[in-house]
Amino acid sequence: MANPIERREGVLFCENVELETIAREAGTPVYVYSAGGIRARYREYAAGLEGMDARVCYAVKANGNLSVLRLLAAEGAGFDIVSGGELDRVLRAGGDPAKVVFAGVGKTREEIEFALETGIAAFNCESEAEIALIDALAGRMGKRASAAVRVNPDVNPETHPYISTGLREHKFGIDIHGVEEVYERARGLRNVSLEGVACHIGSQLLDASPLLEAAQKMVELAVRLRARGFAIRHLDLGGGLGVPYKPGDARPDVGAFLRALRGIVVGTGLRLWLEPGRSIVAEAGVLLARVLYRKSNGDKEFIVVDASMTELIRPALYGAHHEIVPLRKSRLPGTVTADVVGPVCETGDFLARGRELPQLMPGDFVAVMTAGAYGWVASSNYNARPRPAEVLVDGTGWGVARKRETYEDLVRGEA
Ligand SMILES: *Cc1c(COP(=O)(O)O)cnc(C)c1O
Repeated sequence: MANPIERREGVLFCENVELETIAREAGTPVYVYSAGGIRARYREYAAGLEGMDARVCYAVKANGNLSVLRLLAAEGAGFDIVSGGELDRVLRAGGDPAKVVFAGVGKTREEIEFALETGIAAFNCESEAEIALIDALAGRMGKRASAAVRVNPDVNPETHPYISTGLREHKFGIDIHGVEEVYERARGLRNVSLEGVACHIGSQLLDASPLLEAAQKMVELAVRLRARGFAIRHLDLGGGLGVPYKPGDARPDVGAFLRALRGIVVGTGLRLWLEPGRSIVAEAGVLLARVLYRKSNGDKEFIVVDASMTELIRPALYGAHHEIVPLRKSRLPGTVTADVVGPVCETGDFLARGRELPQLMPGDFVAVMTAGAYGWVASSNYNARPRPAEVLVDGTGWGVARKRETYEDLVRGEA
């Protein structure tokens, strides 16, 4: 599937469903995901790893809707989790705990016990104290935990300035230069086997070369650790491949990336684990909204829509760019340069700024594009706004994958 969201004769479709039908029947704001689009991106990874001892562990934090997890579990995907809540979701969706890796700098005792209980594949550990805690808890439970240390490979920022987590100054991982000593100090632990090396250098990488550079460094680390007598079996390279958010962005070629990676990993005897999130779901999702009002303050033009930073925080949080397009060609000629804003009482509540758009009028529907990753999962109830519905499209059919919240949902649990 080239592009699951496509315009045909002026009308925007998700697979074979007209998006306006969903906007009218499910209401707005609403997230819509293409099952076919998600499967296609997952299969691109699976095909690129064919014949290798490799596994794709989809990063649940990008989009944890049960229907999305269920369809990826059915494809045979493993899962990368960062919390006990995500592990619970994976289990409810029928995911195999033996294909789950657990990342994160702040795993709690309860979360570690839950993961040991379910028998996950491995912990990616971010500190010596965490390794010691896993050892103690596993010992008490009569289990043996498999673990990797999340290494910070310190990939050169001068050539790759957009890397956001793989540098020494970031909170993630343990510096590659001292990490062999960490393995040494954990050598005697009886209930943790350090049998992997892991990293995740950042997100939204439009060029795969830093990932390949990290892979090379990690393979060399595995070789050094093996020379010290550690039975290192797997290399977890994390996620991070980006998607085109802007019209000019080039989409990283997953196939070419995996061919290059194969060249680095094959022959080392290492199993390869990847943890893509965004690159599997982002382009398969849109956020639909309705235009409420037009207004202008002097020479500034605003298009007020019924979606906001509470549905999609990426523009407010990172100044992220999302294309905004009408579901049907505008009835009026010409364009307007406007801020697209939501109803939330924050100046930072915008979906686009100074954007040239068609003459959108109240009642028109728009799609905020490339919203399948880090969208609904980062939504909030700020301003007592019920979180939006999520819809899954598959071919010619569609269904509500999560109901829109009600006012009753908003007060649940309050005294
Ligand atoms: C967020 C995250 C991922 C997924 O990153 P993407 O950029 O969405 O592919 C993978 N692994 C870890 C450890 C993460 O924190």
